[in-house]
Amino acid sequence: MSIKIDRENCTGCGSCINSCLYGGITLFDGKAKLIPEKCILCGACVEACPVGAIIIKDEKKEKKIDISQYKGVWIIGEHYNNKIKNYVYQLLGKGRELADKLKVELTLILLGSELDENLEELGMYGADRVIYVKSPLLRNYYSEIYVNVITDLIIEYKPEIVLVGATPIGRDFAPRISKRLQTGLTADCTGLDIDQETRNLLLQTRPTFGGNIMATIRTPNSRPQMSTIRPGMFKVPKKMDKKPKIKIIEGKFKESDISTNIVKIIKRGKKRINLEEAQIVVAGGRGIGSKENFKIIKDLAKELNAEVAGSRVAVELGWIDPERQVGQTGKTISPRLYIACGISGAIQHKVGILCSDIIVAINKDPNAPIFEIAHYGIVGDLHKVVPAITREIRRLKEEEKVRKY
Ligand SMILES: Cc1cc2nc3c(=O)[nH]c(=O)nc-3n(C[C@H](O)[C@H](O)[C@H](O)COP(=O)(O)OP(=O)(O)OC[C@H]3O[C@@H](n4cnc5c(N)ncnc54)[C@H](O)[C@@H]3O)c2cc1C
Repeated sequence: MSIKIDRENCTGCGSCINSCLYGGITLFDGKAKLIPEKCILCGACVEACPVGAIIIKDEKKEKKIDISQYKGVWIIGEHYNNKIKNYVYQLLGKGRELADKLKVELTLILLGSELDENLEELGMYGADRVIYVKSPLLRNYYSEIYVNVITDLIIEYKPEIVLVGATPIGRDFAPRISKRLQTGLTADCTGLDIDQETRNLLLQTRPTFGGNIMATIRTPNSRPQMSTIRPGMFKVPKKMDKKPKIKIIEGKFKESDISTNIVKIIKRGKKRINLEEAQIVVAGGRGIGSKENFKIIKDLAKELNAEVAGSRVAVELGWIDPERQVGQTGKTISPRLYIACGISGAIQHKVGILCSDIIVAINKDPNAPIFEIAHYGIVGDLHKVVPAITREIRRLKEEEKVRKY
């Protein structure tokens, strides 16, 4: 896109300057002049100009692409040390669903060095085809290689949908690719579907305005339709009896192709908390009342062999580690059982737990929004209810031990 100012028509009235929030336009010799470094091409000045002297041109719209050439759903995979990340299987499940609705192929793209043995089993998770770009250099992630290789593959194969994990790595390469391809990218989606009316548009849902509303975004004029999706948003699909077509591309990359150099990968000292893969999560919110009181949550979690989590308020109050925050700005989880104690159920919290199989809420307020999504609700004081549940579980375990003995 570009902005052109017709100096002959410009009257120098200054309406455009007042309309620009970014100081992207000024007066020079009594006529409007663009400051390209500041202009964000929002078009406010175009609308403000009373004589139509400012024109915004969308060169891309002018040379419209032929959308019908684009077919297929792609997932861009990720691995660490050649172990495929769990969220890739979750995306394959969703990708399969979308591909079936569109009646097209589902392809997984992998860039790695020693993934050969894992390729066949990817069919069991729904992939019709795996394109594996292989090079010893791809043991680690390099932004430039990912961007160059994936962009070239997209240009060659023309998929209509490209899904990427909203992980630090996905968030790094996906926007660069979308910029190169001049297409839209919807970040941090929580839901994906195919538009019933057009039968070809991807509906990309994500929280917006601080998570207060859910927006559904479409990419009608460009291809591919690109989205990043947070790990934990979808379930790993049930395995199916399927073998994918496999295409291996030997990447001829050299060290000199990379401008960054990985000096050292430092493992975290602490045991990593994997909330995304936990089967049972017990979480506390403001209702817990203090850091010390979190002990009752930890006690229950211990009995259930569960992970402990918290709401953002619990994190902000310093009651629990930020790594354990669940929700829009924390982790998205999909446990078999989620127990929310003293958590009101704000939308930003709910988006992180919607994939839980069973949600149990304990809250003294019967109107707390958490009860809208809870499968089981206990209205009461958590300081009495939680220890009572813990005691009961201990008692049942003891009984079980005695019975077995
Ligand atoms: C951009 C943005 C991103 C956000 N991201 C997140 C996020 O990722 N995760 C997140 O959690 N929040 C997030 N929030 C904050 C969110 O809006 C809420 O403020 C937060 O979730 C509330 O936390 P809470 O439920 O612990 O506290 P509150 O809303 O204060 O709720 C406390 C609850 O405890 C109950 N209670 C109190 N005492 C007891 C008792 N003795 N027994 C039983 N129940 C009791 C109360 O009835 C109440 O329902 C975000 C907000 C914004 C604007």
